[in-house]
Amino acid sequence: MASDSDLKSFLRKLPKAELHLHLEGALCSHRVAELAKKYGVELAHAEIHQRYNTRGFAQFLELYKWATSFLREPDDYAHLAEDTCSNLREQGVVYAEITLSIGVMLLRKQDVRANFRAIHDVFEEKFRAAQGPRIQFVFDAIRQFGQAPAKEIVELAAEHRTSGVVAFGLGGDELSLPLADFQPAYERAASAGLHLLVHAGETGGPDQIRDAIDLLGAERIGHGIAAIRDPTLMTRLSQRKTPLEICPTSNLRTNALNIQLNATDVSLIDHPLPKLFRAGIPISLSTDDPAMFHTNLVDEYFHAHQMGLSLDELLQINRAAFEQSFLSPEQRAILLAQLKNYRPS
Ligand SMILES: [Zn+2]
Repeated sequence: MASDSDLKSFLRKLPKAELHLHLEGALCSHRVAELAKKYGVELAHAEIHQRYNTRGFAQFLELYKWATSFLREPDDYAHLAEDTCSNLREQGVVYAEITLSIGVMLLRKQDVRANFRAIHDVFEEKFRAAQGPRIQFVFDAIRQFGQAPAKEIVELAAEHRTSGVVAFGLGGDELSLPLADFQPAYERAASAGLHLLVHAGETGGPDQIRDAIDLLGAERIGHGIAAIRDPTLMTRLSQRKTPLEICPTSNLRTNALNIQLNATDVSLIDHPLPKLFRAGIPISLSTDDPAMFHTNLVDEYFHAHQMGLSLDELLQINRAAFEQSFLSPEQRAILLAQLKNYRPS
């Protein structure tokens, strides 16, 4: 590539898949301001700006809680879905697995079915009109809320399998409850035919990744960067081909990177992505919570390039995201063929 802008433009047009994206994390500050106005909440511009520019995991969870408190009815979720759909399209994403924080909806005593219908219908309509990517959904429980809501979320996910819900996942604070608590929920999810995801080894240690695989049967790991601290675990992930969903900017902004590297002053080029990838561990690249971390998928690929990955390696990672996805074999074949036949204009 002649220049950085040529590379970015190539990456933007490249048909891509994104596997780790929280719908609520795509809630931008502009939309929060509109929703606050709708609900008669006075918000100073400075407050929104300050909340959207914090750093650290606890601060991020606080922002997530605060911003999502303005998502109060299905219509609010529909607008968020529209924003997200156009952002994905603009980024050249042709397939995404979108995680919904059902745990937060339940906590706020919202009508999960109505919210999901509103979200689903927006993405479905856009996809059918060739104005948006193909989407499948992950229903996510929040670890610190405990196993009772997790079980309820599994049932809701099972009920919506025919509407594109393909997986059950667990996010939130890794240092709260042990993963063993969630074994019954994961057993039920597996028996309902759902795929199994776990956020592990983001701020927690390598033991979290081992537990996610051994106790819960996780098929992919959300983040999993703690593996870099444990060569035996890295070999195991590489041999059993367990994919890690890597979100570099998120790791920087939540301080997960500082924690895993045990260093105070870190930047994106210190991210272990190249080492994990070259150790033969399947990885994909995602934004996690793009609006809250001020990132997008093209930037994440560009950052990976700055970390030292060649264009050929970036292309391998993009292709692998389709392979690691929960698409049906037929749909996967269609998208992989589209990728294979892609020629930059
Ligand atoms: Zn996440």
